[in-house]
Amino acid sequence: MEKMRAMVLSECAPIETNPLKLSEIDRHEIKKQNEILIKIEACGVCHSQLHGIEGDWKHLGIPPSLPTIPGHELVGKVVQIGKDVTKFKVGDRAGITPLLEACKNCQYCNEGKEYLCESSIITGESLKGGYTEYITVIQDFATKVPENMKPEYAAPLFCAGITAFKAVKAAHPRPNKKIGIFGIGGVGHMAVQFAKVEGCDVIAFSRNQNHLDVANRLGANDSMVFSENQENFLNEIKDKHGMLDAAIVFAPSDIVTDTAIKSVKKGGIIVIATIGEKLSFIAFEEKTIRGTLIGSTKDMEQVIKICNEENLEVISETYPLEKANEVLKKLKDSQIEARAVLIP
Ligand SMILES: [Zn+2]
Ligand SMILES: [Zn+2]
Repeated sequence: MEKMRAMVLSECAPIETNPLKLSEIDRHEIKKQNEILIKIEACGVCHSQLHGIEGDWKHLGIPPSLPTIPGHELVGKVVQIGKDVTKFKVGDRAGITPLLEACKNCQYCNEGKEYLCESSIITGESLKGGYTEYITVIQDFATKVPENMKPEYAAPLFCAGITAFKAVKAAHPRPNKKIGIFGIGGVGHMAVQFAKVEGCDVIAFSRNQNHLDVANRLGANDSMVFSENQENFLNEIKDKHGMLDAAIVFAPSDIVTDTAIKSVKKGGIIVIATIGEKLSFIAFEEKTIRGTLIGSTKDMEQVIKICNEENLEVISETYPLEKANEVLKKLKDSQIEARAVLIP
């Protein structure tokens, strides 16, 4: 049996205790003839891994079992294909989103919303994750990545990118629509750019001035430092911009979500792209609050195409795979500008 290096989580624990252990485990092998074997070149580090590893999301059933290899936005080279594979050939570059597999049979799958499938398998919630050297996947759940796209550029598109893209679409973008983006990190900095591609007027909100500088550089029409003094903050937005047409929330914070809902005009849309709990809103204002989760394989193809054609920027910093614990610690301490990417 061939082996591979992996950062394995055997028990949820605070990241300061280095819960990910560098291990040599059996390399994944093609088991079904419609699968491909990918040699991973890069895997992004998503905030949700921090929650999963530290056990914050046990009440949501995450992780569903242990041990796991975390990591759910990865890109690599196809090194082997099953007999029935038609979508890829050896040598192609391919990427995987958090959706590793779905049933392809249920109502959601038939509607092209396979990411909502009840029997889906999530990348990084078993030994099939990205913080390692190899992974297998059914061809339909991998997406082609053009040869000219660097792996550390492409990897973050497979969770941060698609999440941002879908959230912007959910806000019904159109030219000059005033969209507020709350939370400018790995996902938010992509959302600013997707909204600009649609011609929207983008206002970026973050607690962190560095993140706002990034948003401004990427084309945001304005940016404002988020303040928990809600009344003053809302007045400040109104004075400068009037009420927003739509808001997208990436910051996992109740006060941010509540402020976002109140910043939108009557009849407007609020898109929650994070764990939204304890929402309150006034029904008579006819606002629409909607959730959003990654996206479909078709959405992923769109993301790759738009990023390639429009030359969107992905801000990433690379680290060796072995540094996964340190990188997650940095993420916890807000020391990552946008996205960290692990290179095996
Ligand atoms: Zn993610
Ligand atoms: Zn299904």
